[in-house]
Amino acid sequence: MDMDKTKLKPASVFECFAQVNKVPRPSKREEQMIDFLLRYGQGLGLETRRDEAGNVIIRKPASEGMEGRPCVVLQSHMDMVCEKNADREFDFDRDAIETYVDGDWMKARGTTLGADDGIGVAMEMAILADKSLKHGPLECVFTRDEETGLTGAEGMKDDFMTGQYLINLDSEDEGEIFVSCAGGCRTTATFHYEEQPTPQGQFFVSLCIKGLTGGHSGDDIDKKRANANKLLARFLYMEQKKMPLLLADIQAGGLHNAIPREARATVAVPSAMKETVRVDWNLFAADVEEEYRVTEPSMEFILESADATDTVVDSPTSQRLIAALQGVTNGVFAMSQDIALVETSTNLASIHMVPERKTIEINSSQRSSLLSARHNVAATFAAVFELAGAEVETGEGYPGWKPNPDSHLLKVAVAQYKRLFQKEPVVRGIHAGLECGLFSEKYPALDMVSFGPTLRGVHSPDEKLLIPTVQMVWDHLLAILENI
Ligand SMILES: [Zn+2]
Repeated sequence: MDMDKTKLKPASVFECFAQVNKVPRPSKREEQMIDFLLRYGQGLGLETRRDEAGNVIIRKPASEGMEGRPCVVLQSHMDMVCEKNADREFDFDRDAIETYVDGDWMKARGTTLGADDGIGVAMEMAILADKSLKHGPLECVFTRDEETGLTGAEGMKDDFMTGQYLINLDSEDEGEIFVSCAGGCRTTATFHYEEQPTPQGQFFVSLCIKGLTGGHSGDDIDKKRANANKLLARFLYMEQKKMPLLLADIQAGGLHNAIPREARATVAVPSAMKETVRVDWNLFAADVEEEYRVTEPSMEFILESADATDTVVDSPTSQRLIAALQGVTNGVFAMSQDIALVETSTNLASIHMVPERKTIEINSSQRSSLLSARHNVAATFAAVFELAGAEVETGEGYPGWKPNPDSHLLKVAVAQYKRLFQKEPVVRGIHAGLECGLFSEKYPALDMVSFGPTLRGVHSPDEKLLIPTVQMVWDHLLAILENI
């Protein structure tokens, strides 16, 4: 490896990271990494075990004179996202990640770097091995399969960890301390329709809204981006109040965790109303463009005549569907009362007509840092579609982590950060899922924070680690351990 080693500080952390990078660890295929961690802990003569879910814990006793301190859990996830460039020959089940230094950044040759969360793993390993550090009793926890379902954290029993505090090392912006995350669930609504013969004298028109910004349905939900599905429903509702409107097809949105960027429908209207629809569409487009002139600069509204079909969705069902899509709430539902962050939101993700089943299927997701608030917004969504005659199902979902305004760990983390770097860290939450959500469900008394060195391009072959921030996070981490 042609690496300028003098840059890589702290050396112990980067040496551990180099060891981690030799061990294959794709999500759900972490066996080699589990063995590696077990051998590492045993090699240091420390109490080491794994649970049925595949999580590993290594316990390190307090350093001399620190025995009376509370136990702190340091936690990272052992798996990594395996993405590579098309031209790169690489076997993630066998090959070692090849890293290199480019300026202040560490990168990998044509693959994900695995610093998410291998750098967190490496920091824990370096702490376990270093006899010169001052700290109370420590539990170093390495969870499995964070990236594809959080099954390690989910399968963890409530007696696996015993610490009073937990520091999660899976955040990606040095200088930011995370204190909450959202839980989430999915709600689906299904309409069963009859095919109705198309009456005489209809004009078929296809409507398409596209070119929207989109984004993550949690993290971007407060950015006032338009939801293509809601815009389309809004136009259809407006027109069905004015004229008999028959639905021939609707295909809108996509992934359950994305703000929909594109929506299409084909409808039939009486031929005499053809021009009215065209004029209304143009006025509607102008209104919407004005409403979103900052956040949606590239929206396109396309209206075209379409081929007639012999049948359409029965009119009562399509009217109830369109009314429900108009009526259902979408976007930010509530802001947090503790921090400047979305507390609860809902995203109308997709609407798909499936002629083989004669159904129209609607997918949505709800998120909140408060479980009861998530149940409430999911019930709000469900009630509208139940009123409209749809079958509604809400999944079990995963829990959130609500901010703890009395967190002692956070107070120490902030004070030590200011002392070390003479500036305030940003204390924030994320409106998306983290493993801390699952821990907070199993260990309600656990006081947690999450932070880590700066990463960019995670989950892609462009993933890179900002080297100087590793030293900063290391110093901060040791200062917290010494002072809690
Ligand atoms: Zn991660």
